[in-house]
Amino acid sequence: MSDTIFGKIIRGEIPSDFLYEDEHCIAINDINPQAPVHVLVIPKRGIPRLVDSQADDQALLGHLMLVAAKVAEQLGVGEAFRLVVNNGANAGQTVFHLHLHIIGGRPFAEGHLAG
Ligand code: AMP
Repeated sequence: MSDTIFGKIIRGEIPSDFLYEDEHCIAINDINPQAPVHVLVIPKRGIPRLVDSQADDQALLGHLMLVAAKVAEQLGVGEAFRLVVNNGANAGQTVFHLHLHIIGGRPFAEGHLAG
């Protein structure tokens, strides 16, 4: 498992409230939310970036998407949310342990990817 803040959270070395947990991943609230709902879905396997994932991560990557959809619905934003993966520092990735951002609960500009 990679040694990032998320690795420490997953290992319980840093306390955090898990909104969801199963054997493959956790979901936690983002500490610096960009919207009323801003949740991170984090695999327990510490893949640094999406481009570092391998063919045998296929099931895990699909699982993360399904969990994101389930968590979004549970948080009441199932009808409108964005799922974001920042890959690489120049794309804004700051924690090099793959994670999905679920962002919802506010309007998004039509046709914009980053609004
Ligand atoms: P990224 O920029 O895609 O790597 O996203 C990393 C995210 O992790 C940012 O949105 C941070 O606000 C968030 N973050 C950093 N540390 C913590 C933490 N201890 N608990 C929850 N979220 C965190």
